[in-house]
Amino acid sequence: MEYDHIVIRYGELTLKGRNRKLFTTQLANNVRQALRNFPAIKVDKKRDRMYIVLNGEDPDAIMEKCRKIFGIQNMSVALKVENDETAIKEQALKLITETENVRTFKISTKRSNKEFPIGSQEFNHVLGGYLLANTENITVDVHQPDLEITVDIRSEATYLTSKKVPGATGLPVGSSGKSLLLLSGGIDSPVAGYLTMKRGVQLEAIHFHSPPYTSERAKEKVLDLAEKLSFYGHSIKVHIVPFTALQQKIHREIPHGYSMTVMRRMMMRISEEVAKQEGILSIVTGESLGQVASQTMESMHAINAVTNYPVIRPLVTMDKDEIIRISEDIDMYDISIRPFEDCCTVFVPKQPKTKPKLEKVEQFEANITFDQDIQEILSSIETIEIQAKDKQEEEMEDLL
Ligand code: ATP
Ligand code: MG
Repeated sequence: MEYDHIVIRYGELTLKGRNRKLFTTQLANNVRQALRNFPAIKVDKKRDRMYIVLNGEDPDAIMEKCRKIFGIQNMSVALKVENDETAIKEQALKLITETENVRTFKISTKRSNKEFPIGSQEFNHVLGGYLLANTENITVDVHQPDLEITVDIRSEATYLTSKKVPGATGLPVGSSGKSLLLLSGGIDSPVAGYLTMKRGVQLEAIHFHSPPYTSERAKEKVLDLAEKLSFYGHSIKVHIVPFTALQQKIHREIPHGYSMTVMRRMMMRISEEVAKQEGILSIVTGESLGQVASQTMESMHAINAVTNYPVIRPLVTMDKDEIIRISEDIDMYDISIRPFEDCCTVFVPKQPKTKPKLEKVEQFEANITFDQDIQEILSSIETIEIQAKDKQEEEMEDLL
C-alpha cells in the first residue's frame, strides 16, 4: 500500500501552552535536519501535529529516522483523502485489500470537522459495512484486529492512518538550552547525556585525556560514544582536554587519599571555564550515588564546592542494572565496555578517601596554585565537531 504521509503526534508538547510554538518549531527543524537525505519530503507543521508529506520517499526508512527524534510521542503512516464519503470508502477498501495478511479489521472514526455530514459512530458502521460488502473472508474484530484504520476527518482533509508507532518521547533537542557533558569512556556518562538530551537539552561534551597513560583508542572510544549521542541531536562538539601534566602535579603535591577529590575539583573548574566560553549554563555528569568512592555525599559536596553552575546528575538515584539496561537499549554498551583505561582509573590512589572533608581539601590546595596550569590547559584544548552521519553519507565519503 502506498501511504503518502506520516502523521507525527507531539504528546507532552501539547501541555506546554506558551512555549508550544517554540517547541513545535524546534521539532520541525530537527525533523528536517534528520531527514535531510530525503530531498522530496515536505514537513508541514500544524498546531497539534505534524505531517511529513512523503512525495514518493520510503515511509519505513523515514519512520526509522524519526524514532530517534525526541519530542515525538507516536507516529503513523497515513493516506490523505478528500472529505468525501465515496473517496474515503474507495481508499479504505484499497488499504484493506492491499495490506497483507488482513483477516480482521476495525474502523475508528474521529470527526473533528463537524461540517462532515456523518457522525463518528455512524461512519464506523457505514464504512465497516461497505468494507464487509466488498471483501471476502474479512470480518470485524474490535478487540484485536489485524488492521485498525483510523479515519481522521479534519477540516482540510481526511487521513486514513494505521497503527501508532511509539516515538522517542521527551522534548525536542534544543528547546531546553545547552549543557556540557563530562564524557568519560564508561557506561554511565553517555547514558546521562542521552537522558539529558531527552529533556530537550543540546549537548557539548568534555573529555579529560592523559596521554601516554591513556591511549589514542581510549579517545576514539569517547568520540564513538559522542557519535552515538549525536544521532539524537544532529551534532556534538567534543572538547578534549590534555590532563596529564595537571594529574602528575596533583599526584606529586596532594596527599594520596585526597588526590582523587582534587582531580575531580580540577575537572569541574576546567569544565566551568569551557562552559563559560561556549555560553553554556550547566554541567552534566554520570554520577550515581554510592557507586564508587568519588560518589559519596561527602565527595559530591567537596567536588561541587568549586562551581556555582547547576550540575545535572540524571543517574543519581539509579541502580547500575537500570543504567546498563538503558545503555544497551541505546546501543552504547558495547562501546562503553571496550577495555581502554580512563584517566581517572590510571591515577586513582589505592585508598581514596571516601569521606573527604571540604576544609581539608581546601587546605591542601591552598599551598599550591593551580590557576596557571588551568590556563595552560584551556589554551590547548582540542575541539572536534562530531556530525551524525547516516549510512548513505558514509558511503559517499568512502567513495571520495
Ligand atoms: P562513567 O561510567 O561515566 O565513567 P563512573 O561510574 O566510572 O562513570 P566516575 O569515574 O566516578 O564514575 O566518574 C563520574 C563522572 O565523572 C562520570 O560519569 C563522568 O561524567 C565524569 N568523568 C569521569 N572521568 C572522566 C573523563 N576522563 N572525562 C570526562 N568526564 C569524566
Ligand atoms: Mg568511568
